Amino acid sequence: MSVHPRLARPPVTRFAPSPTGYLHLGHVVNAIYVWGVARALGGTVLLRIEDHDRIRSRRNYDAALLEDLDWLGFAADEGRHPPVRQSERTGMYESALAGLRRAHHVYACACSRKDIGGERYPGTCRARALADAPGRGLRVQIDSGVELFVDALLGPQRQDPAGEYGDLRAADVAELFM
Ligand SMILES: [Zn+2]
Repeated sequence: MSVHPRLARPPVTRFAPSPTGYLHLGHVVNAIYVWGVARALGGTVLLRIEDHDRIRSRRNYDAALLEDLDWLGFAADEGRHPPVRQSERTGMYESALAGLRRAHHVYACACSRKDIGGERYPGTCRARALADAPGRGLRVQIDSGVELFVDALLGPQRQDPAGEYGDLRAADVAELFM
């Protein structure tokens, strides 16, 4: 299948169930969409097991999810043989974080949700030079500027990440890009 003409490169969609229970109808609806978009646009599907919740994740649910996806015919292009599990990629995340630290793109943040009081983080801790400590988060500095891109479904888009969200929590960034 050829790549959709509005896309610069083949898209990679991802299906990322948490092994905290069995596959349910919501997963299946999501899988139909994820595989459908990839196939319609000439892209590929990444399957990733979101097992970073060490308390609620169970290996028997993990095995059952994979078995059910196979049975339903959802064959991932990447992440099935062998399965990609978040819990096995800690080194990758630590390495990415170390790179951000070296480039001074991250800083410790002591603000609670109440301190922030809204969707956008105002950069309160940017210049505080706080040390890492239990209870503190990490934020990634987001440069100001408008991003223009083409969304395959919505068409041309314009976003101002710094203006709309401010500096992101490192965990949110990991969810977006990893
Ligand atoms: Zn802060």
